[in-house]
Amino acid sequence: MSELCKENPVLYIVIPCYNEEAVIGETVRRLTAKLETMISRGLVAEDSRFLLVNDGSKDGTWEQICQLYEKNPYVTGVNLAHNKGHQNALLAGLMTAKEYADIVISMDADLQDDIEAVDRFVAEYQKGADIVYGVRSSRKKDSFFKKYTALAFYKLMAALGVETVYNHADYRLMSRRALEELANYREVNLFLRGIIPMIGFHTATVEYVREERFAGESKYPLGKMIAFAIEGITSCSVKPLRMITTFGVLISLLSLIYLIYVVVGGLTGHTVAGWATLAVLICFFGGAQILCIGVVGEYIGKIYSETKARPRYIIERTCLK
Ligand code: UDP
Ligand code: MG
Repeated sequence: MSELCKENPVLYIVIPCYNEEAVIGETVRRLTAKLETMISRGLVAEDSRFLLVNDGSKDGTWEQICQLYEKNPYVTGVNLAHNKGHQNALLAGLMTAKEYADIVISMDADLQDDIEAVDRFVAEYQKGADIVYGVRSSRKKDSFFKKYTALAFYKLMAALGVETVYNHADYRLMSRRALEELANYREVNLFLRGIIPMIGFHTATVEYVREERFAGESKYPLGKMIAFAIEGITSCSVKPLRMITTFGVLISLLSLIYLIYVVVGGLTGHTVAGWATLAVLICFFGGAQILCIGVVGEYIGKIYSETKARPRYIIERTCLK
């Protein structure tokens, strides 16, 4: 065992919940059984808890969290004032939990992440890891589309120089000291998967099989997935801006060559009426320029929200014990 880790750590399991009334009852039931065995085996401390973060749900999620809080000694809850999205809800949970816990594990409310892997997370912490990443060993249960779009995303991130852990989402363990470092990253545009690998420390990975959501619907439809990917890229890499510059230089060089060709053609009297070529070129470069302005705009948007430095989440109420 490493000197830095505790033998009987207080574990907090942070679960962001958005419109999850169909699942949280069952999720808490299964997790309670899991936590009780871990406590009885002396793996984690008795005052370990679940922290359910209600991300401004429109259904009865918060009411249900309050009921669970009354009935179940392990349940605690945080109610956010608004829906701020998965990443911010997670951050709110992590920052609340770090005040009480030695280690914090984040997972989704729908139990797609195998809870049996929790023991192995804690074992890696005992061996000295400050951050343990849950990595999907297979994507058999995912649709063809989700599997390949996700794969393309990791490849793209790597090509843009952003360090992410392959096939890792937000199922991970963090020690208190890793969370304290995370608290120093004050950016408003939050992409935890890109930021956490920057923290460093000793890390480990644990493989698990990702299951299907057992009830309710995915809160990540295609539009949100694309927005999340753009957020990830623009908050962790400036390579797209550099690519625009390269593209501009390349086009300028090509037009120089073309200019010489046109001048020579004009001088030797070989000019032809090239309407189609012109039309195609205008459309193509018009489109390319708008796209480039759009990319620059994405970054300006980021700067805009970062300079305002608005709070990333607002806690309406906390139920702790
Ligand atoms: N979630 C959230 N706020 C949101 C959207 C999602 O807190 O605005 C939570 C959701 O309740 C779940 C987790 O984020 O616990 C992951 O969402 P989901 O399972 O729908 O995503 P998928 O697994 O389909 O990618
Ligand atoms: Mg899910």
